[in-house]
Amino acid sequence: MKLDAQRVRGQAEATREILRSRPDVLIMEDLSRMRGRTPGRNFSRVVSPWMRSNLKERAEFLSPAGGSRLEAVNPAHTSQECPQCGYVHKDNRQGDRFHCRHCHFTAHADTVGAMNVEHRDTDHKLRERIQVFTPKEGVLKILREIFERKRALFT
Ligand SMILES: [Zn+2]
Repeated sequence: MKLDAQRVRGQAEATREILRSRPDVLIMEDLSRMRGRTPGRNFSRVVSPWMRSNLKERAEFLSPAGGSRLEAVNPAHTSQECPQCGYVHKDNRQGDRFHCRHCHFTAHADTVGAMNVEHRDTDHKLRERIQVFTPKEGVLKILREIFERKRALFT
């Protein structure tokens, strides 16, 4: 496993920066379910879980003092779901780039993941349907249903 030390340091700094800004809410992907998984092939997948757990530890430590609320959401398919039209497909993501095969929405993959995590936390109807312990296949089924219903409404 090849790690780019400079990038790791950059992420640690980004973590400190986030916590220094004392956000009202910190939304975490549920990490307990991700533990024990083998890291993916590419670098960002190796570093990202490290940054997430680092951020989680610091956030849990600092949360009571800083007044941030810590919430967990189901992380399944957050990097493959289009935040604009809701289309979910693994081809939507290629490395760091996200490009929706349906509506052509384009952004950095991390931005898309963050948008989807936030949406799952703030949309109360969605939060009732996709819970932290909803299995991955269940999440996919729900996301596809929502997409199909939206598409039926707008076409
Ligand atoms: Zn789309």
